[in-house]
Amino acid sequence: MGSEELQSVVVLNPWEFTQKQFMRKPWAVRRRTSVSLRPRRSSPKIARLKWLTNHRCHDYAHLAERWLRVAKRAGIEAREFAKAASIPLLMLESRAAAAGETLVYLSSGVHGDEAGSACGLLAWAEANVALLKKEAFLIFPCLNPQGLMLNTRADHRGLDLNRRFHLADDEVCGPWQRAVANRCMKLGLCLHEDYDAQGAYVYELGGQKTAMSPPLLKKVSRILPLDPRTDIDGRAAARGVIRPRRIPKTLPGMPEAIELHRRGCQVTLTFETPSEAALELRIAAHQAFITSAIEKIA
Ligand SMILES: [Zn+2]
Repeated sequence: MGSEELQSVVVLNPWEFTQKQFMRKPWAVRRRTSVSLRPRRSSPKIARLKWLTNHRCHDYAHLAERWLRVAKRAGIEAREFAKAASIPLLMLESRAAAAGETLVYLSSGVHGDEAGSACGLLAWAEANVALLKKEAFLIFPCLNPQGLMLNTRADHRGLDLNRRFHLADDEVCGPWQRAVANRCMKLGLCLHEDYDAQGAYVYELGGQKTAMSPPLLKKVSRILPLDPRTDIDGRAAARGVIRPRRIPKTLPGMPEAIELHRRGCQVTLTFETPSEAALELRIAAHQAFITSAIEKIA
């Protein structure tokens, strides 16, 4: 391939690339490309493509900046509670939570390849500043920033953070334990995504005789389908709800949700969206789930 021909291929708009264009003479490709890069009118499809190619869901610095703006607008404290390597980890504590009121716990980004959960939590917070001002919340916006930046499940040490929440000497989970110690928690939402999932689902711990999750999932099902499986990761499931009667005795390490449950959190919901679904739908599903869960517990 000559340099002129190579240059023509490089400037191709990927959305317009076809075998037919590739077979054209280089000057013909260039002319077609210059037209396709300037759409005549805006459309929802073009807006979506622009968003998908420009979103910053894996940009931790950008995410943290937006969280600091949320905290400032809500008049609540945002502070560094730990470091992952040299990256500061943020925690937000509302005034009511600092005053000792029974609180709602929210976290995301334990696994870095689950950007829909981290962005969904931020989108919810940005839309609910008034609620953050008056109610009791403890929020961990992203517990695995390097994973988020690299799009990996593992953290900066190559470890699965969600098997380490029982470890008081862990550089992330130790400070986390001290931050949640002696808190009264009425609801814990641990937000995740699952690349094996066939739809949205919840792992519910604690609560009353009746499961809390079905009405929440009903709202989510307007955005994403529910996972139809009756066995999810070896646990019985029905219409997207896993609700174990007892905590498994042998675990490879302690997940965040079980550690919260052990520490007296009344209901802990681990919400999962399918990470192969469209990113904007996953973000919307997380927002809808958080909103419904908080309304339900109020
Ligand atoms: Zn996860």
